[in-house]
Amino acid sequence: MNENPTYGEVYAEGRACLTQAGIEEAALDARLLLEYVCGTDRNTLLAHGDRAVSEEECRRFRDLIGKRADHVPLQHLTGEQDFMGLTFLVNKDVLVPRQDTEVLVEEVMKNLHDGMRILDLCTGSGCILLSLLHYSNNCEGVGVDLSAGALAVAKENYRRLREERPEMAAWFLEGDLFAAFADHKLSGAEREAGSGEKFDIIVSNPPYIETDVIGTLMPEVQEHEPRMALDGGADGLIFYRRIAQEAGKFLSGGGKLFFEIGCGQADCVRKIMETAGFEEIQVVKDFAGLDRVAYGSWFRR
Ligand code: GLN
Repeated sequence: MNENPTYGEVYAEGRACLTQAGIEEAALDARLLLEYVCGTDRNTLLAHGDRAVSEEECRRFRDLIGKRADHVPLQHLTGEQDFMGLTFLVNKDVLVPRQDTEVLVEEVMKNLHDGMRILDLCTGSGCILLSLLHYSNNCEGVGVDLSAGALAVAKENYRRLREERPEMAAWFLEGDLFAAFADHKLSGAEREAGSGEKFDIIVSNPPYIETDVIGTLMPEVQEHEPRMALDGGADGLIFYRRIAQEAGKFLSGGGKLFFEIGCGQADCVRKIMETAGFEEIQVVKDFAGLDRVAYGSWFRR
């Protein structure tokens, strides 16, 4: 007798393999990979654990479990990550969207009004900009990234989300922060008379890990996520300095600059923003009680 194993058996095997490999969320990851391979949902294990798994499904599941045991991030295996209730495609060219970053998006949303123009620097998968556009009306946005690979992912995410909301308006530019504007004419984005290329909101979750710390991060991050999405230079603050120094030129009067920050960076980022001329600077904590967002307003001309 060579019967195919059941869903429950295959799951238990995968979970054991991941546990042995020291994967933190072994049970969850095994379940999600099985659901991914079999096209099932979270009730299947509970209600239909005795369902037979085909040879092909079994082979694919074991292959993915092997990769996950080698610390390939779960999201690189399934190709997607949910963020702000939306599904974003991801691959090795982008940072996997983090739940912590939802705090940044929610903080921006409190300050976002219909018709505003948003600039997202280091847009990566586009998760920040596209969520903001999805949950607002008549806003338009520009996402900038230095990585062509990342922009390809962001554009594909834009194309997919637009199927649901065709009125969404975003442009994605390749370049080094504000230098991306030097070579482009944003014809569509310039239509608001008098505002030129100015933005009401600039938002960024820039790379902010200190270079020396990257080697201590979990293998999923240090070996599989793009280094350029992590590395914030020797003190982790390079991008905050560069962005804060130039942002004023691109903000309308009363416009706001929002940053995601790493824990322990609040005081430094506050100082950087103050020095650059930002006012009314606020720091917001995440659900774990850690400083996660810093933002300030630009009133100068
Ligand atoms: N903006 C993207 C995100 O928050 C990418 C950030 C990055 O690459 N540092 O997920």
